Amino acid sequence: MNDGTLQVVPLGGLGEFGMNCLALRCGDDIIVIDAGMMFPDDELMGVDIVIPDFTWLEENCQHVRALLLTHGHEDHIGAVPFLLSQVNIPVYGTAFTLALVERRLEEHEMRGEVTLVRIDAAQQLEIGPFQIDFIHVTHSIVDAVAIAITTPLGVVVHMGDFKVDPTPIDNRMFDLHALAEYGKRGVLLLLSDSTNSDRPGYTESERAVRPRLEDIFSRAPRRIVLACFSSSVPRLQQIIDLAGEFRRRVAFIGRSMNDVSEIAHERGLLAIPDNILLRPQDIQQTAPGKLAVVISGTQGEPMSALARVAVDNHRHLSIEPQDTVVLSSRIIPGNEKRIYRMINHLAKRGADVVYGSMNPPVHVSGHASAEELILIINLLRPRYFMPVHGEFRQLARHASLASHLHKTGLEKTFVMETGETLLIDRFGARRGDPVSVGRVCIDSGTIDEVVEDMVIRDRRHLSEDGFVVPIIAINKHTGRSEGLPELVSRGFISGEDGSELLQQARLVVSRTIESSTAEERGDWSVMQEKVRADLKRFLSKQTSRRPLIMPVILEV
Ligand SMILES: [Zn+2]
Ligand SMILES: [Zn+2]
Repeated sequence: MNDGTLQVVPLGGLGEFGMNCLALRCGDDIIVIDAGMMFPDDELMGVDIVIPDFTWLEENCQHVRALLLTHGHEDHIGAVPFLLSQVNIPVYGTAFTLALVERRLEEHEMRGEVTLVRIDAAQQLEIGPFQIDFIHVTHSIVDAVAIAITTPLGVVVHMGDFKVDPTPIDNRMFDLHALAEYGKRGVLLLLSDSTNSDRPGYTESERAVRPRLEDIFSRAPRRIVLACFSSSVPRLQQIIDLAGEFRRRVAFIGRSMNDVSEIAHERGLLAIPDNILLRPQDIQQTAPGKLAVVISGTQGEPMSALARVAVDNHRHLSIEPQDTVVLSSRIIPGNEKRIYRMINHLAKRGADVVYGSMNPPVHVSGHASAEELILIINLLRPRYFMPVHGEFRQLARHASLASHLHKTGLEKTFVMETGETLLIDRFGARRGDPVSVGRVCIDSGTIDEVVEDMVIRDRRHLSEDGFVVPIIAINKHTGRSEGLPELVSRGFISGEDGSELLQQARLVVSRTIESSTAEERGDWSVMQEKVRADLKRFLSKQTSRRPLIMPVILEV
């Protein structure tokens, strides 16, 4: 490619929610910003995560120089191990971001093969023709940065995720001065977060959740169980501070909650007073009025800690009447059904469940609203603008916010979707040829299973391994299964061995049902997921094959 041309290639996150990834190419050098994942919705049953298709980077692997990370949220780092297994490049990020990446790499046993380079906000870096600066921004996670990239054609600013929080919990201020400096010197292209572009006004400061949480702590008669995103370190800090003030011990439940709090604590980003932490196994022996539990599973994920607590199937915590459960998080669109189902279960157990939007809020967003977005565009005064990070409606809304800013020198806004490209040369910016993009479904989180598109995956399963349909009849009144579950299979296994195996498989399904709580049995989606998971494990152990498993539950 021509040295005098800058190519902007969004590989994920534009026109879709999650899996943010964008490449910049100048001559023979490519840098990548973020490599995130997406949580699958209900339609993709059996898929754990979804990541961008990195084929374009693989095809150009000899030119790809680095991966730069803006912050440690899953929609920005969740696909890092998968990208690196295809294109091994050094990864640059702040301390906390890299710590979270390291944890992911360890899960995939890749830590030794990867170069991680720690950067600090206000640090400069040179990679090929790119001069790179990191600018501290405020967001719902600590250690987040925007990235300013000086190229031979001009400066490109990628905002990462941000809100303009004037009173951040860690007192590290958004470096608006640095942005204003770039604005003065001139910015060629701005890429900015569109998540909340349809929200008018300003996003509240993280501190805005304090009054409601304080109210909960001062009134709750018994245990307080708080769910939030484990990476929301500022939120965790506020909860721990309040627990200290109200003399409650704190127990963390959920693996990510334990890991992330430990990582943040080790790096001095989360202050935990001595003797405040309690082991989960000591929860039941602690006086209910002296306890706060911080738990993962805000989105009602069927296997998450809170979802299991909701159906009374957790080792360490059983909800009792008058316990208070707080969902200090947003409801990610698409997850409404299962979140409300989880809340129903909690309410049935007698808990007072605090969730949703209320005033004062129990959760505030980490993303900038309309006025803040306009402020950023005004500060940077870019010549070209490309809204990123959001569904098409959010990108379009963000573009319209910028529409009255043409006086400031904004020449053109490009609303683009993943796979479309932007070319900038000395004549200006224009749309370029599209590149090949897509979504890759990952089945159980291992690198070997970087498989194809969902449809292809299903077809492959069907053609190679066939399918198995367990049919379970549950008695509406007793909640028990009626007789042994039936198994229908095609193209999976046949003959004497086959019928023997299927007979055993019926027992596996039957055991799964029997070992479930009455509440779980009353919830089809939980049962489907449990039956599918147990049967998948059993069948792949016995046969090393992976048939498509589609449990059907009938109420009789
Ligand atoms: Zn994000
Ligand atoms: Zn984020």
